Amino acid sequence: MQSRQPLLTVQGVTLQYKTPHHLITATYRVSFDVMQGDRFILLGPSGCGKSTLQKAVGGYMTPTEGEMRLKGRKITQPGPDRMMVFQEFDQLLPWKTVKQNVAFALHASKRMSRREAEEKAMEYVSKVGLASFADSHPHMLSGGMKQRVAIARGMAMEPDILLMDEPFAALDALTRRKMQDELLKLWDETKFTVLFVTHSIAEAIKIGNRILLLSPHPGRVKAELNSTTDAQQAIELEQHIHQMLFSHEPEEVEHA
Ligand code: ADP
Ligand code: MG
Repeated sequence: MQSRQPLLTVQGVTLQYKTPHHLITATYRVSFDVMQGDRFILLGPSGCGKSTLQKAVGGYMTPTEGEMRLKGRKITQPGPDRMMVFQEFDQLLPWKTVKQNVAFALHASKRMSRREAEEKAMEYVSKVGLASFADSHPHMLSGGMKQRVAIARGMAMEPDILLMDEPFAALDALTRRKMQDELLKLWDETKFTVLFVTHSIAEAIKIGNRILLLSPHPGRVKAELNSTTDAQQAIELEQHIHQMLFSHEPEEVEHA
């Protein structure tokens, strides 16, 4: 039975970078809940703190204000319950094959035997359509194929939540669309939970069921929206989001 408790709660989270001369506030008091099986999107312009939020959920940054909880446990460090997939094509180990890249983390962190890890790795390599490249090295693969391996590696760990930071942003338009379709197909099969970062409104609507819209730097929650699979509604939603992102509302003024 699906729990009605959120899987991930982000409560009033402010994230800052301290540099020798500056204190940079990346996000300001951001709150949202991700439910089991959500395809939850963080959407906003470049620099609004999407990657910073992902890093904090990943356990690589500590909020200066607020807290994040996964299954009720406060996030304080990275763990195999949160696997990350990045934009860069060089996130694989170049000296390992496709299968070894996927099996490596399984064997290292899950105390699986090498053989069990390889079996599970093959299962996920097949899921992303790369069974015939299992023994190839990353340099033999296209960008899209490398991203498939990174996704297979993340999914094979069967994390509570998959963290994807603009995973398709460096791909050409056709490959990108294909990868979006494939991700949705994988979701239909396994109903994993994903926190997906993008600055593309169209991608957010296509991939997500929920969309958190962040304002420009520092990122604050501007709106939380349901996505749609209806083509006409998607066009309207895209226009609506576009207006919200690019409207310059005056700051709230307190009356004397
Ligand atoms: P996004 O992913 O939405 O493009 P980021 O989370 O990467 O945005 O960055 C948010 C803000 O934090 C930006 O102003 C950026 O310059 C700043 N920032 C990001 N990483 C660092 C860092 N390592 N040190 C200092 N400032 C940073
Ligand atoms: Mg980013």
